[in-house]
Amino acid sequence: MTESGVAVQLEDLRRTFGAVHALDGLDLSLAPGEMVALLGPSGCGKTTALRVLAGLEDADSGRVLVGGRDITGMPANRRDMGMVFQAYSLFPHLTALENVQFGLRLRKRAAERSRAADMLDLVGISAHSGRYPHQLSGGQQQRVALARALAIQPQVLLLDEPLSALDAKVRVQLRDEIKRIQSEVGTTTLLVTHDQEEALAVADRVGVMREGRLEQLDAPSEVYRRPATSFVADFVGLSNRLPGTVAGDSVTVLGATLPLVGSSTATAGTALVRPESIDVVPDPAGPGRVQSASFLGATSRVSVRLGDTVVVAQVPGERLAALTPGTAVRVELRPVPVVLDDAAVAG
Ligand code: ATP
Repeated sequence: MTESGVAVQLEDLRRTFGAVHALDGLDLSLAPGEMVALLGPSGCGKTTALRVLAGLEDADSGRVLVGGRDITGMPANRRDMGMVFQAYSLFPHLTALENVQFGLRLRKRAAERSRAADMLDLVGISAHSGRYPHQLSGGQQQRVALARALAIQPQVLLLDEPLSALDAKVRVQLRDEIKRIQSEVGTTTLLVTHDQEEALAVADRVGVMREGRLEQLDAPSEVYRRPATSFVADFVGLSNRLPGTVAGDSVTVLGATLPLVGSSTATAGTALVRPESIDVVPDPAGPGRVQSASFLGATSRVSVRLGDTVVVAQVPGERLAALTPGTAVRVELRPVPVVLDDAAVAG
């Protein structure tokens, strides 16, 4: 830990590939023990940021500091970082235990063996320590890869889409495990993912990237509930785009006045409203008609036509029976903060 409480600092990183600005002045700090997830659309520079931190890619300008020390230009193999990639990167001719021992090979043999075994225990697959990679499932192989990355007690753990090759159920299980293990070992971690649910579920803070820099860096709940920009609101979660009348720090949408995230000098705009902020109530005199409804388990998603507008709402799952297509309804908006689409405001 450093005096400043900063474990990793990326300072004004720039990297171009031809005409593409993969990193365009990226600033990012990670606190000791923190897990930050970089999230963003394809090509926004997430992987380049991780590779520059790892030393696998050079930035054109900017600095990389770890524990307060400037390591810009230091080769990857001297950076003391553990990495887990999307593709299974285990050595096929070594067992799970030998794979984990591999990174420790410069250490004393007995200590090495026991540390590797402890790591396999930590990631929950000590029963399979004698198996070769082809005898392990994808999820088990990634557990071994995680054990191998952590065995060297790195200063920083880098996870590059570690779950994206796995099927949905294993992905959810393993992401919860990664969170548990990371907080147990307390290693400062940067995760790169395009899966917003994964980022929101595991990270202490989520950095939403756009065109080579951070659009917002905040706790998952803040990124979701108080997106700093319409880009973030659009990218993270689903939003309805509803025309509204703006007055300073509020916007009136479908007859309801909602607080704005921030304030606006515009008089009209498009508000981005989450489906779960909208309730649908059967009402024979209501102005809306249910257009479609689908059961998602704990919740149901209902589309309601209101004149020219279609509104998507998320309601408790069991309400589906009362909301069949054609049912007359009214919609009610919860007074939670919304953002305006900044590409669609009128002064
Ligand atoms: P994805 O989610 O698709 O992996 P990303 O956010 O990780 O995307 P990067 O891989 O960092 O994005 O790439 C950022 C931009 O830089 C993209 O336009 C990409 O095509 C470009 N780029 C990255 N690496 C190279 C390279 N070695 N040569 C040329 N262009 C590159």
